[in-house]
Amino acid sequence: MRVVVSGGSGFLGSHLCEVLLRRGDRVCCLDDFSSGRAANVGHLLGEPRFECAPCDVTERVRVTGEVDAVVHLASAASPRDYSRRPLQTLAAGSRGTENLLRLALRHQARFVLASTSEVYGDPEVHPQREDYWGHVNPIGPRSVYDEAKRFAEALSMAYRRSEGADVGIVRIFNTYGPRMRPHDGRVVSTFIRQALDGEELTIYGDGSQTRSFCYVDDLISGLLAMVDAHLPGPFNLGNPSERTVRELAELVLLITGSDRGLRFEPLPVDDPVRRRPDITRAREGLGWRPRVSLAEGLSRTVSWFAADSDTSGRPSQHLPVGRMS
Ligand code: UDP
Repeated sequence: MRVVVSGGSGFLGSHLCEVLLRRGDRVCCLDDFSSGRAANVGHLLGEPRFECAPCDVTERVRVTGEVDAVVHLASAASPRDYSRRPLQTLAAGSRGTENLLRLALRHQARFVLASTSEVYGDPEVHPQREDYWGHVNPIGPRSVYDEAKRFAEALSMAYRRSEGADVGIVRIFNTYGPRMRPHDGRVVSTFIRQALDGEELTIYGDGSQTRSFCYVDDLISGLLAMVDAHLPGPFNLGNPSERTVRELAELVLLITGSDRGLRFEPLPVDDPVRRRPDITRAREGLGWRPRVSLAEGLSRTVSWFAADSDTSGRPSQHLPVGRMS
């Protein structure tokens, strides 16, 4: 297959590109490098089946040649990133999604939308099943991401119903692993960076809010199954093992051997109180389930952070590439 991956140099995108190449596919990676790091795909550039082009998917998407699948991951995804770039985030979910849907439709290609657990907002139903419609504040600071993804889902389903597009939706829950940016503001990357830098870990609120953390390799195997499945979904992809933020902090302290302890800071507006995916549908529909425990996944991630030289938070350099057929 030849697969177009938007956001292909981001955290999830770069892992997906790698796995697609490993199984023999051709990959066309599109990224504007606003939050993706060029270094994430630098090691793939010598690979003849890999192409990478700078592209803002909210403007125009030009891909020549055959396309068998399009995976739309391009978006700011951490609360820090999307609150700094609210208009671009809304555009990525709306115009960006439409541009990529049109590309897929033109080629009769599979289209997979990377949606999010944020479509459930601050959920009143727990754990979250795909038939729950969510509890989102449409004008709060998180709305630029939540509503953009909800619109992207609506648009994708409209293309499926009215144009016959082969659309599939996955709702991605908190995912962590190598290649997260140390300054992206997310909880796992922040705690690991702080612990390795000998800083206190910053807990927002009292740390009793919960999340369910999925290791990146598990997430990517679910995403890959969705590329191949020709099912509409939506499917929750995440690890149902739910932890409080405080438990996560204590685990990071333990794994890194840090004794600096915790510091408590105010909880951000509309921060969801709890989150856990019900993955019954993905298990039955895709034959998928996560396998990596939090302790194991965190250990691997800590090792990567400890070895990664670019933990300075410098803006990522731009790729000197543009090889497109
Ligand atoms: N959080 C925290 N300290 C941090 C960063 C995040 O306590 O330094 C909390 C945040 O308030 C939220 C949870 O960790 O309750 C997960 O935050 P993240 O930004 O990773 O993702 P979210 O699930 O909120 O999109």
